[in-house]
Amino acid sequence: MTYQTDLKLFIDGAWAAGEGRDCHDVINPATAETIAQLPLATKDDLDRALDAAQRAYPDWRGLDVEKRASILHKAASYLKANAKEIGALLTQEQGKPIKEAIGEVYGAAQMFDWYAEEAKRNYGRTLVRPTGQRSIVLHQPVGVVATFTPWNFPIYLLAKKVAAALAAGCTVISKPPEETPGSTGAVAKALDEAGIPKGVFQLVHGVPDMVSRHLIGSDIVRKVSFTGSVPVGKHLMGLAADNLQRLTLELGGHAPVLIFDDVDLEKTLDAVVPQKFRNAGQVCVSPTRFYVQEGIHDAFVKGFAERTKQVQVGNGMEDGTQMGPLANGRRPEAIEALVDDAKSHGAELMAGGTRGDNGFFFQPTLLANVPLEAKIMNDEPFGPVAITRPFKDLDEALHQANRLPYGLAAFAFTENLRRANILGDEIEAGMVGINGFAISGADSPFGGIKDSGFGSEGGKEGLETYQVVKAIHMQ
Ligand code: NAD
Repeated sequence: MTYQTDLKLFIDGAWAAGEGRDCHDVINPATAETIAQLPLATKDDLDRALDAAQRAYPDWRGLDVEKRASILHKAASYLKANAKEIGALLTQEQGKPIKEAIGEVYGAAQMFDWYAEEAKRNYGRTLVRPTGQRSIVLHQPVGVVATFTPWNFPIYLLAKKVAAALAAGCTVISKPPEETPGSTGAVAKALDEAGIPKGVFQLVHGVPDMVSRHLIGSDIVRKVSFTGSVPVGKHLMGLAADNLQRLTLELGGHAPVLIFDDVDLEKTLDAVVPQKFRNAGQVCVSPTRFYVQEGIHDAFVKGFAERTKQVQVGNGMEDGTQMGPLANGRRPEAIEALVDDAKSHGAELMAGGTRGDNGFFFQPTLLANVPLEAKIMNDEPFGPVAITRPFKDLDEALHQANRLPYGLAAFAFTENLRRANILGDEIEAGMVGINGFAISGADSPFGGIKDSGFGSEGGKEGLETYQVVKAIHMQ
């Protein structure tokens, strides 16, 4: 299948192509070949987007919620009906296996469907006082929203922000990643086909720093939502300070996985290894630091290495591929540097460890007994590398899990219910998975603590993040 789509900006209900704009190469990471040219937004485009979002806001905010919901449901239907084609675009620009790509499109559709319904449950609260006075607590839309989303789950993460913001009654300007414009363009197409009114949603690709400075620098924008790395999140927080815009920051993680010696080892390995290499480890909640109780550590490493060597790596469009390339040329280099640094600190390389010849491939990799001083024990690898260390008891496991400034996801495997409860209570993370990895869904809050950011996406909390609270006191 060839990469075929029109790459355009979507502003004020109209599509804009090259027309003299600077362009950016779109590269297939499985081949390192340029497959398309993406037009980049100019400052004038961004001003038009801001103006359109501001003009469209009063009517969208005032629209009957059933009508708003119906547009979101139609967008979901479009995504589901075209999931195969959109998934193929995603695989060609991002690399993940086509099955995962199509699954991501369905996940995005689920976000639109779920928030279409959640918007109808925006009830507020009444405080009834014995004196007869009443107070009413209202949740109102925050206003114009700017979203910035990354390339690892470009359709799903865009949909997660946009569906909630639109459902809340906000108008939106989204800057998706430049690596994956075809698949994110499909989200704009879905909304356009669904009949979204002019100006309610705009999609602007561009040079990230220019776009974020321009949008966040405008006091038209009242809320900024970013998913990406910790340094960029801190930078955007600085920009938002000037206009006191509200922020949701979903930044990186370095998820610990605590494995106790009462588990069924084979069953646990069968669960953890595919999770580690899903999307080539480019997942903010990817299981990464495997702390394994000392009696079973070596057997765990042996089983992990055997399974790692069997992972089928290749072009995501080919049948049987279980892991594709990394998403861009920066990633293999970054992973290689982390692996080399770990080895130089004495980590044992049990599987993988090298880059591929063509495209942006890196082999599924396992490093065992990694010293705490190694960079990879402290910095998020965001790639297909698992690292292990043995631990003695619950206290040490908890200490290791909480050692880093990250606090996004954490996982623990144990059959002991009392211990599972303690782990759930004491691990410093926004999401804790006990005996499994299902920690994200349309109905549940997802977000980090500590350096992993703040604010939730998903669930009713995800709607609230695009709302302000007002109390009306009837005297
Ligand atoms: P990066 O920090 O340069 O970029 C991360 C994302 O932020 C990209 O989508 C990029 O387009 C965007 N971005 C960068 N500068 C920006 C700016 N000034 N304004 C607005 N957006 C901006 O890193 P990268 O090389 O693309 O990715 C590597 C790192 O990013 C990883 O190590 C990982 O920590 C992090 N990351 C996290 C997630 C996540 O889901 N939390 C997703 C992708 C990347």
